[in-house]
Amino acid sequence: MSDRNLITAIRAREVLDCRGLPTVQVDLELGGTVTGTADVPSGRSTGSNEARELRDGGERFGGFGVLEAVANVNGEIADSLVGTELPEQRALDSALIELDGTENKSRLGANAILGVSLAAARARAQAAGVPLYRALNANAHVLPVPLVNLINGGKHASNDLDFQEFIVIPVGADSILEALQISTEVNLALAEILLERYGKSALNTGDEGGYAPAISSPHEALGLLHEAVANAGHEGRFRYGLDCAATHLYDGESGTYTVAGERYDTDGMIELYLELIREFDVITIEDPLDEEDFEGFARLTAASGIQIVGDDLFVTNPKRLRTGIDQNAANALLWKVNQIGTLSEALDAAELAHRNAYKVVVSERSGETEDPIIADLSVALGAGQIKTGAPVRGERTSKYNRLIRISEELGSTAVYPGREMAPAALAA
Ligand code: PEP
Ligand code: MG
Repeated sequence: MSDRNLITAIRAREVLDCRGLPTVQVDLELGGTVTGTADVPSGRSTGSNEARELRDGGERFGGFGVLEAVANVNGEIADSLVGTELPEQRALDSALIELDGTENKSRLGANAILGVSLAAARARAQAAGVPLYRALNANAHVLPVPLVNLINGGKHASNDLDFQEFIVIPVGADSILEALQISTEVNLALAEILLERYGKSALNTGDEGGYAPAISSPHEALGLLHEAVANAGHEGRFRYGLDCAATHLYDGESGTYTVAGERYDTDGMIELYLELIREFDVITIEDPLDEEDFEGFARLTAASGIQIVGDDLFVTNPKRLRTGIDQNAANALLWKVNQIGTLSEALDAAELAHRNAYKVVVSERSGETEDPIIADLSVALGAGQIKTGAPVRGERTSKYNRLIRISEELGSTAVYPGREMAPAALAA
């Protein structure tokens, strides 16, 4: 290896995420010339089995400071890596895991470790003179279909909607640009309906930029999306999705979930989902049940015949995904790099999913920055689906805009697999 691969500096700092909370940004410099930079996102409706991000506690930033994680990058991690050759990603990530020494990265912090892991991937691509998606996959050419979250609830909004995300899916578009165009037209139509029906305050938004009207019924929210699609003139070109984030609706003592003021046991939730699927053309549901209920997930997956996605269930962890695969718990993996804390482990989870005919949905976190890295990662994985919020606000549009650029770079080789998500219905 040449000097171009020598790690000459690693620097971390606190920057602000879209909620105004601190997060870790890392620069990794190679050969004194090339610098890869990456920001670490942060969740709010987190799964309890995620890798641990370090937060300082105390008074500063309401306890959300990340100076300790930053110090771990600038200190222990930099001390062990600066002056050495940058190894392959897997070897680097293994070294970081070993240095941390805990099962869930709680000593150095998953936010410290992931920042270095992603900055290294960026630096390596830059040194090779290729975009990140190309550095990770020489054959990358599939753009993801966006799962566009237009109505926010749950922990992401201050309304009474219990489900977290009400999603429109532009399956009937021919490119990512057209997908974003028609999704934005639906969002504009939705704003008109909300304003007329509920007044100005209904246009307040949640953490992922979707509207957060003062409603509580999932039927009403899905009905609004249907109306908006029709008013925008795009009937037939969209399907619908939910992220219920149901762990946060579950009361372990009584074994029940609360949705719109009603209590449901697991069977009741499954019935509710089957009804929503029938009535509203829902083709994907994420986290429909509690994060430990592999068995309930399996029953819904078998009964529904649609895409059932594990987020808090799998936490992008190959071990938990293996359990899910063995129990037929779902048929799709929500893929969030910071849930596991290194790029290599996240890539392993995606590979395991693909080998077992699971779909992969690349996802943002509710606490994002302007860093568009998941756009590149979604194309590198050929995932075919991405969830990155409403098509508004910099921390969401940075991903969409990066996908537009990638699509342009790929030119005629780019594939937008929207119609594959709902072929029969679209042909009708
Ligand atoms: C999600 O649950 O899919 C999500 C993006 O939310 P958070 O980042 O808050 O976990
Ligand atoms: Mg989720």
